[in-house]
Amino acid sequence: MFKVAVIPGDGIGPEVISEGLKVLDALEETSSLSTQRTMLEIGASRYLRTGELLTEDDVDTLARQDAIYFGAIGDLRIPTGVLEKGILLAMRARFDQYVNLRPIRSWQNFSRLKNEAPFNITFMRENTEDFYMGTGGTFRGGKGKVSLRVKRSLYDLGIEMHASSSVPDDFAFEVGIHSRRGVERFVDFVVRQVNQAGLNKVTVVDKANVCTDLYGLWREIFMEKSERVGVELEFIFVDAMAMSLVRNPDRFGSVATPNMFGDILTDLGAELQGSLGLSASGNINPSGISMFEPIHGSAPDIAGTKRANPFGAILAAKLMLDHLGRADLGMRIERGVEDAMGKGILTPDLGGSSTTSEVGDAVVQYLSRV
Ligand code: ATP
Repeated sequence: MFKVAVIPGDGIGPEVISEGLKVLDALEETSSLSTQRTMLEIGASRYLRTGELLTEDDVDTLARQDAIYFGAIGDLRIPTGVLEKGILLAMRARFDQYVNLRPIRSWQNFSRLKNEAPFNITFMRENTEDFYMGTGGTFRGGKGKVSLRVKRSLYDLGIEMHASSSVPDDFAFEVGIHSRRGVERFVDFVVRQVNQAGLNKVTVVDKANVCTDLYGLWREIFMEKSERVGVELEFIFVDAMAMSLVRNPDRFGSVATPNMFGDILTDLGAELQGSLGLSASGNINPSGISMFEPIHGSAPDIAGTKRANPFGAILAAKLMLDHLGRADLGMRIERGVEDAMGKGILTPDLGGSSTTSEVGDAVVQYLSRV
């Protein structure tokens, strides 16, 4: 029995998550899978009613689960960033979900690429360090002192910076950081994933020719660890990676990226697939509580219209089952998505005319048949 917290969230979140739950129900009827679900109202409506974002009660409840199944948050009435920082980023930090896992694969004819060869890439993005640490500041007038503090489960780091400029100007900066322990645990995850996938090679993205310290340590740790376990490394600069992803994505299998480049490259990858509505991701702490979600947001423009594509949410349930050790069932979900696509049961973003729940029903029917 897996304990799963379900956070449908806002906009199309509840619409697509209910299709994912239908799919889990179908698997429970046809296999040994059993889940105990706790529904949590975290998101815009509660925030507007009570002012609460992620409460200690929420954290206590989430901490007792095996996984979190998340829809989307966002609401036009709330300034951008409030819910994202107060809920999503807070949850990632509280549960130290230090890997972002995002499979990107071609699905039949939906790719945006003209000369498409089938591709299937597993992006693994370090999720806690690099340039996304909130370690920035501005020296107004070119002078002053800034004290930075980074608190992570692995460390509590203080940095003092002093500026003195030859001309009075404003200087803004953002510090990118990699810690040895932060990169090591990420590389350990990458190596395990590569082995589990039956591969022996990983493409490692960085910009070590320009940011020599930040990505120098990154490379050093990849080389040390991969040599020990016999995984082959291919280093590639992020600019070359962007080109290659468009030109021949079929040449990649497992790809490891630092936080910021991964953010950008995985959105490029999602778009190569054909629709934002097709992608899922996992925010993973291999020894803690991980969270699985479609990558799209709350899409307020189509909420309530039955046009939301539920495949991303359904595939997030697949990633969750993979993570919980039921890759056999994850594979069945993926086949169910392929089957629905093959029958042309698609929402409008993929050129179809089916509703959100008709698409979910098609996957359920496949699972009931096999
Ligand atoms: P948020 O601020 O919550 O991220 P957003 O509208 O800025 O919301 P998305 O929710 O990612 O960003 O949506 C971007 C566009 O992509 C939307 O206008 C929507 O039409 C489309 N879209 C997103 N998800 C889906 C989906 N599952 N099915 C169909 N279209 C989608």
